[in-house]
Amino acid sequence: MEGMVSEITPMCICGGCGRAIEKKFVFCPWCGQSKLAKNSSVSEEERMEQIFNRLEEMQINNRFERLEKMENQLDQLEKELDALVLCSEMHK
Ligand SMILES: [Zn+2]
Repeated sequence: MEGMVSEITPMCICGGCGRAIEKKFVFCPWCGQSKLAKNSSVSEEERMEQIFNRLEEMQINNRFERLEKMENQLDQLEKELDALVLCSEMHK
């Protein structure tokens, strides 16, 4: 009975291929990804993904800003139009 408990090997998920590997392995037997290297630094792929995510965020923010500016311009145009209409009505 006691032996059964100790037979359970601690597993973890490989950061390279996503498969379950034994925790004692330093390298993934499936794809060869080093767990040590993974832990010490962010992989190139992850860094690229972070950059892309930030770029996308910036683009979305830019679009919102542009929309807001356009809305402000429209508001101003509307005000100017109102003023013009008022002026022309006053001169009747
Ligand atoms: Zn792997």
